[in-house]
Amino acid sequence: CGIFGVVGVTDAASFVALGLHALQHRGQEAGGIVTHHPEHGFNSARRFGYVRDNFTRPDVIATLPGSIGIGHVRYSTAGSKGATAIRDVQPFFGEFSMGGAAIAHNGNLTNAAALRRELIERGSIFQSSSDSECIIHLMARSIQKTISERIKDALRRVEGAFSVIAMTRTKLIGVRDALGVRPLVLGRVGDSGWALASETCALDIIGADFVREIDPGEMVIIEGNKVESSRPFGAAKSRFCIFEQVYFSRPDSQYGGRSVYETRRQIGVELAREAPVEADIVCPVPDSGTPAAIGFSQESGIPFALGITRNQYVGRTFIEPTEQIRNMGVRLKLNVNRALIKGKRVILVDDSVVRGTTSRKIKDMVLEAGAAEVHFRIASPPTAWPCFYGVDTPERSKLLAATMTEDEMRDWIGVDSLKFISLDGLYRAAGEAAGRDPAAPKFCDACFSGDYPVVPSDKIEEGFQM
Ligand code: 5GP
Ligand code: SF4
Ligand code: MG
Repeated sequence: CGIFGVVGVTDAASFVALGLHALQHRGQEAGGIVTHHPEHGFNSARRFGYVRDNFTRPDVIATLPGSIGIGHVRYSTAGSKGATAIRDVQPFFGEFSMGGAAIAHNGNLTNAAALRRELIERGSIFQSSSDSECIIHLMARSIQKTISERIKDALRRVEGAFSVIAMTRTKLIGVRDALGVRPLVLGRVGDSGWALASETCALDIIGADFVREIDPGEMVIIEGNKVESSRPFGAAKSRFCIFEQVYFSRPDSQYGGRSVYETRRQIGVELAREAPVEADIVCPVPDSGTPAAIGFSQESGIPFALGITRNQYVGRTFIEPTEQIRNMGVRLKLNVNRALIKGKRVILVDDSVVRGTTSRKIKDMVLEAGAAEVHFRIASPPTAWPCFYGVDTPERSKLLAATMTEDEMRDWIGVDSLKFISLDGLYRAAGEAAGRDPAAPKFCDACFSGDYPVVPSDKIEEGFQM
């Protein structure tokens, strides 16, 4: 999901709409905005579909007055699957004795099922099927005197990955879980406003200056011109999601002073060193394979070519929640440039192999177009484990790499060669010169390594074996 918040601007809703538009790649199912105005109170709008189709409409924006607002774009990983219900669309809102508050959550709580059971037993009335709603109910049960203290209380009880943006009538609040699994950044808007966003690309679109990342385990409370920082969860160590670097984030966003594009290009460089192959052209599977293909071409000296064209009017296949839509998706979205491919030995660079269905269809298209050889190079290690922290990887049995060796995957996809970047190579590309330190890895890489930094307790209760 993508989250955005702003305070200290005239017409916050327009800023939030723009920020969410820049974060659309993080969730395409639905979006929501909450604002507050001293006379009109809290107002909200939740809509299915793209931000541009809903929140650019003057009649919608006019219902959201105020100089403070937050928003959310949804991608369902928890809660209702396939058909998102409007009641699952964030931000969630609650009235407390000290006033109202809205929250937007990116990530996934790994103990939400247990918390929900407990809360319902004690009288909470849930409105949605979303894991994030637990936070509002935990806040309602807190005995603290301020909203910010209640948020702290609530977030001390949840486990898993969360970046949260919350608002009261006057305060904009940002929190990141102790491992900083999901991103959150702070920006300055002119000289009176502040913004919080999942990624820096959402600051760029509103002309805000990037100030810094919120640290793992940090909470910021912004009011007027003040940004107050605290560490409610004790000592924190960063385990930022490495898949944000590979696929999820936009390439023009920055983490740790470096663009995601540069990390992806560097993955291609590492891949060319680890798994060289003689060929005539290097083609990305657009868009997510493009920067790595550029790096591969630069390092290998094999010419880069756009052998596959992506229809820009189709969303991310990754984010389509049902298998059926995802199956059709490949042809709706990608087409081969025959003239370029015919008779050539082709290296295809893609970001990941999950179920393997995409790779197999692309191979079919490239062979039909007359390629002499097809070699797959993958910008992530084999995805062998599900993610429980906010990325929708399927259960183990559906992951190709959970049931097959690399050679078996090559034969199943039906290509001349298939190589994945090593975990060490991926860490080097992400700026860790020494590779992955198994005793203290710098990133979450559980979907590749099976090394889960937070015990997925709900899933274990359901029978998942680590
Ligand atoms: P596959 O067909 O192997 O399941 O999907 C892999 C390709 O589709 C990659 O190009 C990736 O960008 C995208 N994709 C589709 N679904 C998923 C998913 O659930 N997880 C990941 N990591 N990538 C996915
Ligand atoms: Fe990211 Fe994979 Fe960890 Fe999920 S399991 S947070 S996708 S690295
Ligand atoms: Mg892709």
